[in-house]
This record gives sequence, C-alpha cells and structure tokens, in this order.
Amino acid sequence: MEDTFRFSDDFGPAHITYIHQPSLALKAIVVIDNTACGAAIGGVRMAPDVSVEECFRLARAMTWKNAAAGLPHGGGKSVIFGDPRMAEERKEQIIRAFARSIENMIDYIPGPDMGTDERSMAWVREEIGRSVGLPEAVGGIPLDEIGATGFGLAACVDVAREFIGLELKGARIAIQGFGAVGKHAARFLAKKGCVLVAASDTSGTLADPSGLDISVLIAMKQAGRSLREYERGTKLPPDAILDVDCDIWIPAARPDVLHGDNVSRLRARLVPQGANIPCTLEAERILHELGVLVVPDFIANAGGVICASMEYRGSTEHAAFEYIDEQIRQNTRAVLQQSRQNKVLPRLAALDLAKSRVQTAMRLKRWH
Ligand code: NAD
Repeated sequence: MEDTFRFSDDFGPAHITYIHQPSLALKAIVVIDNTACGAAIGGVRMAPDVSVEECFRLARAMTWKNAAAGLPHGGGKSVIFGDPRMAEERKEQIIRAFARSIENMIDYIPGPDMGTDERSMAWVREEIGRSVGLPEAVGGIPLDEIGATGFGLAACVDVAREFIGLELKGARIAIQGFGAVGKHAARFLAKKGCVLVAASDTSGTLADPSGLDISVLIAMKQAGRSLREYERGTKLPPDAILDVDCDIWIPAARPDVLHGDNVSRLRARLVPQGANIPCTLEAERILHELGVLVVPDFIANAGGVICASMEYRGSTEHAAFEYIDEQIRQNTRAVLQQSRQNKVLPRLAALDLAKSRVQTAMRLKRWH
C-alpha cells in the first residue's frame, strides 16, 4: 500500500494507469496528476526507458506549468515504452492502440512530446476525438513552426530585464540549442534589438562578438545543416557556449546542463530558461547568490502549452500570440516581484504562485 502510493501528496496524483496490450506489445503509463483547474494537458513521450517516477514528475511539472500559465487545465503525462525511431507503420499502430486505451480517461488531453509529433496527435484525435499539437490541416496551430515558446521567452526577457536594469538594444545573447525554441527566441529577441553573439547545437558552439546573422543560421538549420558550417565566426566545442561573455544566456537544449561544477563559468546577467529543468537546484541557488537573474522554466517557456490550450479551444494563431504575450509578462513580473520581496529563489516564488492557483481551484471542488 505504502509503496503503491509513494508519490501521493496533497496535490495528487489522481490516477496512475498501466496499459498493457500483449498482442501489440504495447506498454504504457498514464499519470493524471491534478485536475482541479480542468482536464489535464500533457505530452505523450515515446521512449524505451522512462520510470513511473519520471512520468509522475513530468506530470507534476505540467500541473505547475498549466496553473502558472493561468490555463483551465491540470497536469498529466504519459509514456509509451518503445524506440521512437521504429517503423512508421508500427508506430501508428501502437499510438492508435494507446489512444483507444485512454479513450475513457476524459480528464486527460494528450499532446506531443519527445518521440511523438503532430502526426501522432492527428492519429490520437481521429481515434478518440481529443489531443493538442495537431497538424494545421486538421485545425492545429503549428506552435514550433511559428515559435510560440521562443516568442514567450522574448516577452519574459522584456520584463525580467527591468529587474536588472538591462537595455535590450544591443544586449548580447548566447543560446544553447538552436532548435524550435532557441532559433525563434533569437529571432524575436533580435526584433527587440538584441545581438546574437553565440549559439550552439550538437555540432559545437559558434561565436562572433560582432553578431551572427540569425536568418542565415535559421535557413541553415532548416536545410539540415549544422551551425559549424556557418562561414564566419569562431568554432568551438559544444560546451564552450557556457564561457561566452554575454548579457542573456538561454538554455534551449537539454536538462541539467548547468550544475554545481560548471555554473560558475557563466558570464551573463539573465538566464531565462527555454529548456525544461536546464539547471539543478544547486546551480540556481549559486546563480541567485551571484546576482544572476534566473526565470524558471515553467514561467519562461510556457508559450508552447498556452498555444496548445488555445488550439484546443479552437482559437487562432493571432489570439494565441496575444495571450502568450500577456500571460508570460504578467507571470514573470509577479514571480520576480515576489522573489525580490520575500528574498527567495524565483523558482520558489513561481511554485508558490502555481500552488496557490491549484489550491484555490481545489477548494471549489466537491471534496476538498
Ligand atoms: P529541438 O529538438 O527542436 O532543438 C533542440 C536543439 O538542441 C537542437 O538544435 C540540438 O542540436 C540542440 N542540442 C541538443 N543537445 C545539445 C547540446 N548538448 N549542446 C548544444 N545543443 C544541443 O527541441 P526544442 O523543441 O527546441 O526543445 C528544446 C528544449 O525546450 C527541450 O528541453 C524541451 O523540452 C523544451 N521545451 C520546448 C518547448 C517547445 O515548444 N518546443 C516548450 C517548452 C519547453
């Protein structure tokens, strides 16, 4: 009993479901964490090795992210065990079968995550009538293509900079990871006058203190080329992005890239977190003590999920952008003001904000 309920606390999880369909070798886990704010939105991850604990932690992170973003949604997550590079036909069969088995879990709205994409969500929608992150052809807002998360990051930076007296005109940015989040963050920040002085991908770091041409880099990535192939600038190893002298350092690649042993290498004043959990808590504490302003992931990178939620309600791309801008500005300001006032890490202030929204919603439920 104790072991089965080892993740249980005052917030959830409401359901942990194991799915096994031997004839298809389908194995999956669904965690619906908390639905006080509304039906849970959370990605479907396809990976060979995700534990139930990790699935729960990801679901809980969605509870906070959705609540902090003021969305009428709780948090959930699911994992289908398998290699996402499996043959397309088999993948479709597995995902459709998974969709069928969650048909009655009406409190859970699946979205894309690592190993699944908008096509997968189209299959899910056809099977059970609900999913987010759909292809445009079936009513989706292509959030990675339009750069919903990068746009939100730029709005976050625009507010956070006031707290450290940083002018965006001429501010130097360095971005780790030049994918869906990183490249659009660069593009939207450049519109505000920032200069991209370094960017990295798995091939290495590209640096030029006089500024990199963002549209050339985006075109190169779109053509499947790596940043190293850019003809100017200095080429360095991937890790060298940490040492770049800049004002704003944006993690937009992998989790835990900043930790106790490397965080002192950073030479920036502001770190808006594009990636999910890019810093260990220890690294965030060290940065806080050094006076570097960190805006936590679930505040700074909520643009994508806000867009998905707007798509679910049949909204337009234009309205989604307006709401992302308004919500992320408001949340960044609230969190940084609380952090300053109560002298706590921005992450703790952000958690307080999210928790109090969930608690308020929980008090409106029948059993509270
Ligand atoms: P992506 O796959 O489009 O891009 C990731 C980029 O990171 C690629 O350019 C890759 O080359 C690079 N990369 C990988 N490992 C690296 C390393 N060690 N050093 C430097 N670069 C490296 O992914 P994405 O959608 O941009 O997501 C990036 C991060 O942001 C992930 O943590 C994701 O969970 C998070 N996130 C994404 C969204 C979204 O809307 N896409 C929303 C919220 C959070």
